[in-house]
Amino acid sequence: MIQPDPPFLNAVKDLLGPRGLLTDPDLVEPWLTDWRGRYTGKAAALAAPANAAEVAALMKLCNAHGVAVVPQGGNSGMSGGATPDASGAQVLLSLRRLATIDAIDVAAREVNCGAGVILEHLHQAAEAAGLRFPLTLGGKGSATVGGLIATNAGGTQVLRHGTMRAQVVGLEAVLADGSLWSALTPLKKDNRGFDLKQLFIGSEGTLGIVTAARLKLVPAIGARQVIWAGLSSISAARSLLELCEARFGRALEGFEVVPRECLAAVLDHQPQARAPLAGSHAWNALIELVSEDPAADLADQATAMLAAAMERALVEDATLAASEAQAEAFWVLRDAISAALRGKGAAMQHDIAVPVAQMAAFIAMAVPAAEAAFPGTRAFAFGHLGDGNVHFHVTAPPGAVRGEWEVGEGKAVSRMVHDLVSQWHGTISAEHGIGQMKRDELGRLGDPVALDLMARVKAALDPQGLLNPGKLLPLARKEPSD
Ligand code: FAD
Repeated sequence: MIQPDPPFLNAVKDLLGPRGLLTDPDLVEPWLTDWRGRYTGKAAALAAPANAAEVAALMKLCNAHGVAVVPQGGNSGMSGGATPDASGAQVLLSLRRLATIDAIDVAAREVNCGAGVILEHLHQAAEAAGLRFPLTLGGKGSATVGGLIATNAGGTQVLRHGTMRAQVVGLEAVLADGSLWSALTPLKKDNRGFDLKQLFIGSEGTLGIVTAARLKLVPAIGARQVIWAGLSSISAARSLLELCEARFGRALEGFEVVPRECLAAVLDHQPQARAPLAGSHAWNALIELVSEDPAADLADQATAMLAAAMERALVEDATLAASEAQAEAFWVLRDAISAALRGKGAAMQHDIAVPVAQMAAFIAMAVPAAEAAFPGTRAFAFGHLGDGNVHFHVTAPPGAVRGEWEVGEGKAVSRMVHDLVSQWHGTISAEHGIGQMKRDELGRLGDPVALDLMARVKAALDPQGLLNPGKLLPLARKEPSD
């Protein structure tokens, strides 16, 4: 890898101005560690262009000098994808200054915005126009549009609205050689060959740098009802999901599960938080219903559904959020799980999916299997049961040393979890991406033909390997015939 030399850095400074290039280690340092604190790297500098033209000019310089970049948005990613390596030769490329939200096209229900727009700001802008951007997640105060696109993020409304891929109507990106590709014009139909935007969605900054996007919006929420239910088993949660799908149809926007231990961890972590139900239940389901129609009587529908669920002994106890504030308080309990578990010591996190109908059975098998194989560990599955996707955390045995356990026994734990997922025809990355965390596992378990195809696309678009090296694409490829 080529170390950026003073002439290169001076040229970047001339290009971006003093706000656009940080070399002071104290200013760069906060961006060198990932959100989970698993990876820390070094960077030659932090470049922060102010617009797409500056990103393109910067990449032209990098291409000419052979300097690699690590794109970064809000640095809230869960797979170490935005953290540079330890060489100190890479330039951290922050897209946070590309934070413009254009006037919303209310008639078309679409908006153009820069890659650096923070998700929560996009929510606010859409709401001010009487509309809604229907993707949300716990990191919404940091995650940016560019990062959400680069990771094809999911979140808690995928059940109804799909992942980030489903929200992108148009895209603008800078390529490794500095060319600017812009396809932001809204066309409902366009058959001029490949749908190129799909190359960049989910490519984790390895094929191009997203600078702007045109995103879909949906009508604002007319009526909303949030339900918290206590259950005895994960199979009851599966049956409850089926009941909700049958009863609510498109009004069912989210169906999340929270095991007893995760709720307890959140209540420990956030002393001001309150458990929604008086008793303790092995599992909890958080269910969100949404209608565009303000007259929709979701509370009545929810009550009727719960009565039917109790008759079938699917639910032990349940409550409906009585206000917007209480609905938000329920969601805080769900969104705070990752942060609460992070404070509990060493753990291996897995972001896995299997076919939706099989996830409950998978959890019932995999939790005891992991705990039995690694005595002293505890396994917790929580999250998006409605999408067949859960976050499967395995915490280290008491006394394990943080930082050591993860690279020793923790690795064996992950291999086991990923092997089980593969046997169930699932995925080792449902929504967080591969980054550096799961790159070797992708190499070990990925379809050789798919990996070969990805490597060929990468070589075509980024022949010098300047875009986010060491991320996503496995180093050693299996031969297709292996
Ligand atoms: P970063 O972390 O900065 O980068 C992520 C990846 O995208 C890196 O590979 C980076 O190189 C690349 N990248 C960033 N910007 C660009 C760009 N403009 N062009 C090209 N590549 C780029 N994610 C979910 O999917 N679902 C969840 O439910 C969820 N919950 C979360 C809860 C919490 C509390 C937190 C902290 C995070 C959660 N996340 C979740 C993860 C995270 O918010 C998403 O992965 C998000 O998409 C990352 O956005 P970012 O701007 O922070 O990207």
